[in-house]
Amino acid sequence: MTIPQHPDLCIDLHCHSTASDGALSPSELLKRAAERGVTHLALTDHDTIAGLAGARSEARLHGITLIPGIELSCQWKGRTIHIVGLDFDDQDERFLAALARQNDNRWARARTIADRLSRLKVDDLLDQATAVAGGDVPGRPHFAEVMVQCGIVRNPAQAFKRYLGNGKPGDVKAFWPELPEVVQWISGAGGVAVLAHPRKYQLTATKLRDLVKDFSRAGGRGIEVSTSGQSSGDLGFLAELCRREGLLASQGSDFHFPGAPWCELGKIMKMPDGLEPVWHHFKAPVGLPSPI
Ligand code: AMP
Ligand code: ZN
Ligand code: FE
Ligand code: FE
Repeated sequence: MTIPQHPDLCIDLHCHSTASDGALSPSELLKRAAERGVTHLALTDHDTIAGLAGARSEARLHGITLIPGIELSCQWKGRTIHIVGLDFDDQDERFLAALARQNDNRWARARTIADRLSRLKVDDLLDQATAVAGGDVPGRPHFAEVMVQCGIVRNPAQAFKRYLGNGKPGDVKAFWPELPEVVQWISGAGGVAVLAHPRKYQLTATKLRDLVKDFSRAGGRGIEVSTSGQSSGDLGFLAELCRREGLLASQGSDFHFPGAPWCELGKIMKMPDGLEPVWHHFKAPVGLPSPI
């Protein structure tokens, strides 16, 4: 049986901070979430939980429930896929060791991106991108920012279109582990693995179904049904896919920075009825009547 979402809850299970490629620090992010009426938040930085401690202490000040979160990069049939991990044990040693390896992977990838873009003749591209990332490992958005600063492109979107997006020289996937391994990291730490923004991979309906089946076989539990920048058609399609494959439904804004009205903390299209929310399956279930 599924229970409709509680009207007083505002649940956002996907967003980013300066610990990866977001513009706000974890504490600024939590302040904004509080202003926007978010009651339950998962900070899901790319391949890191470095922002978790700062987010947790700020969440306490605002009475927000913070769910441990991450967005892990992996490969499936040669494509980069993002898996959101939720409600895991953030002290789990094997999980932390996997994240340390993933951080090494990200550095190796950043060096390769810089090498592949050497023909742009940007001095110290890797160092500049690292500086934009605040000294942490740079991701593609940080490289995009350097290109904008150097006048090579007009905006980040153009940087992705020409140099960093799918199939372009700066789109380096070779360093990511295969999907089942990453799902296993999350389940091994007692968490729930959720397929992030399934419409973003530009897969045909058949390929997306294959991906979802492989993900489910690997131990994946849910898919993001409601995320920013989707049409209501996408929402209906994903809801149907979720029901048909017997998966849990998740939702998140994928907020990165203020000023984009279509992508804001807590601003989430209501999910269609008849889905089983992922948050009913957290260790401390959200929105279910407490057991008597
Ligand atoms: P990375 O983890 O380094 O592969 O970077 C992935 C991030 O790049 C995504 O989470 C988005 O924030 C950003 N991104 C991906 N594609 C685009 C695009 N076409 N335009 C702007 N940002 C993008
Ligand atoms: Zn991002
Ligand atoms: Fe993503
Ligand atoms: Fe994201």
